[in-house]
Amino acid sequence: MLWHAVDMISSRLRNASIFLGFGLGFLPVSPAQSLPSHKTENVVLVMIDGMRWQEVFRGADPALIETLGPEALGDAKERTAHAKALYWRSSADDRRAALMPFLWSVVAQQGQLFGNRDLGSDSHVVNGLNFSYPGYSETLTGFADPRVHSNDNIPNPNATVFEWLNGRPAFRGKVGAFGAWDVFQGIFNRQRCGFPVNAGYEPFTAIPATPELTLLNDLKKETVRIWPDEAFDPMPFHTAIEYLKAAQPRVLFIGLGETDDWAHAGAYPAYLDAAHLADQYLGQLWQLLQSMPQYRGKTTLIVLPDHGRGNGAKWTSHGKDIPESQQTWMAFLGPDTPALGERKQEAPAVTESEVAATLAALLGEDYHAAVPKSGAPIQAVLGANAPRP
Ligand SMILES: [Zn+2]
Repeated sequence: MLWHAVDMISSRLRNASIFLGFGLGFLPVSPAQSLPSHKTENVVLVMIDGMRWQEVFRGADPALIETLGPEALGDAKERTAHAKALYWRSSADDRRAALMPFLWSVVAQQGQLFGNRDLGSDSHVVNGLNFSYPGYSETLTGFADPRVHSNDNIPNPNATVFEWLNGRPAFRGKVGAFGAWDVFQGIFNRQRCGFPVNAGYEPFTAIPATPELTLLNDLKKETVRIWPDEAFDPMPFHTAIEYLKAAQPRVLFIGLGETDDWAHAGAYPAYLDAAHLADQYLGQLWQLLQSMPQYRGKTTLIVLPDHGRGNGAKWTSHGKDIPESQQTWMAFLGPDTPALGERKQEAPAVTESEVAATLAALLGEDYHAAVPKSGAPIQAVLGANAPRP
């Protein structure tokens, strides 16, 4: 039923494009006459703050691997040796597999990865600002809003797709968001959204305590705080895992932040460690999901950053004055997403503004019809218009 409107719209668009003489190359695809019955019943969205596509697709950068950042982080020789042993390999393919083994052994085999510019695949943000709040907001609401132009922890004027889903009976009370950065309180508009948002160093008390939650809450209180607004990534990740096990949400957000923080500090080995840990978490998460009847074979994992970073010496930074920091990447893994692996230039460009409607469409919900200014769903990951490999 929900797809009816989409069918009509896409049918009109198709007729219009044929009438105008466009899209002849697409004719065999026959999009969305009836969108396929989706298998996805749950979605987990993991965002890795400021993680560059360059490391995702090329692994550790030979020009940066000895860029250690603050001396306080430890002995230079030891840190260089550590980074090289873990992440240095002679080929880019081996380097990326060493850095993000889950992404390259599982997602690249069974899902799809966008954004390898070396192969002509384009993924980017459209907000023009290339920093965090606008990037998260674009991804979660499906559009860029000029009112969202700072990283201040203020309530988002717009509802996210998470809030929209939580307003629908099938998802009400089955949504949660966990992030290292305390500004997720504002991005998800915690006062209004109606589901748990746990961010930064705050204890999580919305579900009955478990020994693990109690320990996590203690660690948030007691661990040294390098960044006043951002906890180390193990805090939000493991808190989210406790919530997942206890509440079995259908829609879950996990926001990791250390990649961005270590990059701003100019500490390349620590940035790589944070990326490697994020990949390890994706693997742990996927394994856990496949072990639970609520999730096994019916859960889609979406992974992306909120912005890119500069090239060369500008790798530490991002923003509107660093145009290449609009460049991002995206990964999709789940029962509806055709296993097309690493996408190349024939795949259409994807933008972060398309993720909200894609996430909803995977769940059979038409967010794009409800919020027309949101980007349209990425057909290639829905199994509808998948080009032949
Ligand atoms: Zn940043």
